[in-house]
Amino acid sequence: MSDLFDETLNRYPNQDVAVSSFLEDWQVIAVDEGWERFRAAVKKARMECKFFPHPAEIISRLPAVNSRPVMAYRDDCEVCSGLGWKNVGPADPTPDNPRPKADRYKRCECAHIVFVNA
Ligand SMILES: [Zn+2]
Repeated sequence: MSDLFDETLNRYPNQDVAVSSFLEDWQVIAVDEGWERFRAAVKKARMECKFFPHPAEIISRLPAVNSRPVMAYRDDCEVCSGLGWKNVGPADPTPDNPRPKADRYKRCECAHIVFVNA
């Protein structure tokens, strides 16, 4: 929670006066609404609000109660083209395995959670 709050504060460097009083409100909203839905609402508010999002601006952006979170990827991602996985190459050589062959795949950084109606 405090990471998300600090991240959001950093986006609004000129607004450090009263917003720290929002932290308690954020905690109430997150407990009442669930962390995933809360976090999605904060991220949306950060993109849409010119000032540090007021708790009411977060509440108004909560995903629907009956929606569920799913992992999504960006179709225009230059790394994975929306497939969600990136090739990180073979493992580093070790004494046991001096010439590793298989490429390895990791989840792409473009991964993000979206809410879909259940
Ligand atoms: Zn990607």
